[in-house]
Amino acid sequence: MKITGGKVFDLQKGFVERDVCFDDALLTQDSRDGQTYDASGCYVIPGLTDVHFHGCKGADFSDADPEGLQTMAEYELSRGVTQICPAGMTLLEDQLLKVCKNAAAHRRENRPGAELVGINLEGPFLSLAKKGAQNGDWLHAPDAAMLRRLMDAAEGLVKLVSVAPEEPGAMEFIKEVSEDVAVSVAHTTADYDTALEAFRCGARQVTHLYNAMPGFTHRAPGVVGAALDSPWSRVELISDGIHVHPAVVRATFKMFGADRVVLISDTMRAAGMSDGEYDLGGQNVIVKGPLATLADGTIAGSATDLMACMKTAVSFGIPLADAVRAAAVNPAQAIGIFDRVGSLEPGKRANVVVLDGELNVKAVFFKGRKV
Ligand SMILES: [Zn+2]
Repeated sequence: MKITGGKVFDLQKGFVERDVCFDDALLTQDSRDGQTYDASGCYVIPGLTDVHFHGCKGADFSDADPEGLQTMAEYELSRGVTQICPAGMTLLEDQLLKVCKNAAAHRRENRPGAELVGINLEGPFLSLAKKGAQNGDWLHAPDAAMLRRLMDAAEGLVKLVSVAPEEPGAMEFIKEVSEDVAVSVAHTTADYDTALEAFRCGARQVTHLYNAMPGFTHRAPGVVGAALDSPWSRVELISDGIHVHPAVVRATFKMFGADRVVLISDTMRAAGMSDGEYDLGGQNVIVKGPLATLADGTIAGSATDLMACMKTAVSFGIPLADAVRAAAVNPAQAIGIFDRVGSLEPGKRANVVVLDGELNVKAVFFKGRKV
């Protein structure tokens, strides 16, 4: 297959005019099978990686349901998200073990849909005061032994774990596990100094920057300021038009640079569904358009998938090449899979998305096959 005529995402140059070739599952310099796909007037980008979403299409990762996980993987693939690292909510350990085992079995059985490349454990090591839409009854102090049990159940799939660094034992937890899993600062009341210590202890990401944490103000720079001063860290950003103001999306790309922003969707099960009431981690959520809230008005995840979040970021003024970097390159780097996906270099997986001029998904190629 040779995709011709499109503007192709390039790591160094932004977008260039060139062909994208593959015959089997991997990208190549040239194609031998004589097939072509005309991408004139279109953008050709690598498949995206969502490292933080809970559900879609009526299913939630936290249900630990094999069919539900497959539904999620198939829906995400149809949206050009070719790699998924779904996130668990704050749940009791028994349920989290089921979630991890379900993911491991899904991967072992090589089920259809987007490739499940990891698990993000957003809960339960979070702060009650900043729990957001997490269930406060099931929060747990940072516990490395518990995390190890979950990592074993997941057969090595746990790639990200969130922690509120002000919780007792959090710094020891970060030191102990950060060699084996990316630790992300999340759902926290931490001030600048506490967050800075967390990054020095080994944390290297921030979970949905700005949401469920103190703000960034002139005498209290908080987690945002500490992340800025820790250049090895990356920051997740929900650019759905609800969670973060457009001006702050623009400011974030300017402050951190496009290399450090990881766009995430944070979708719950209503993504790809109609308005109504849905469950999220044992709590009722009301969904109206892109807005998902608990009964008290707390924002409860999003209903906008990652491809749509990327498009929204562009509508806010983020250059397309920067938005693609933040949705395809940086998330793959954050969980250590950039050697095989996340860009269009020969040798990488032939996971390729064609977008029309309005950035709507026109075609998805996954492991060399059109979906
Ligand atoms: Zn969250």
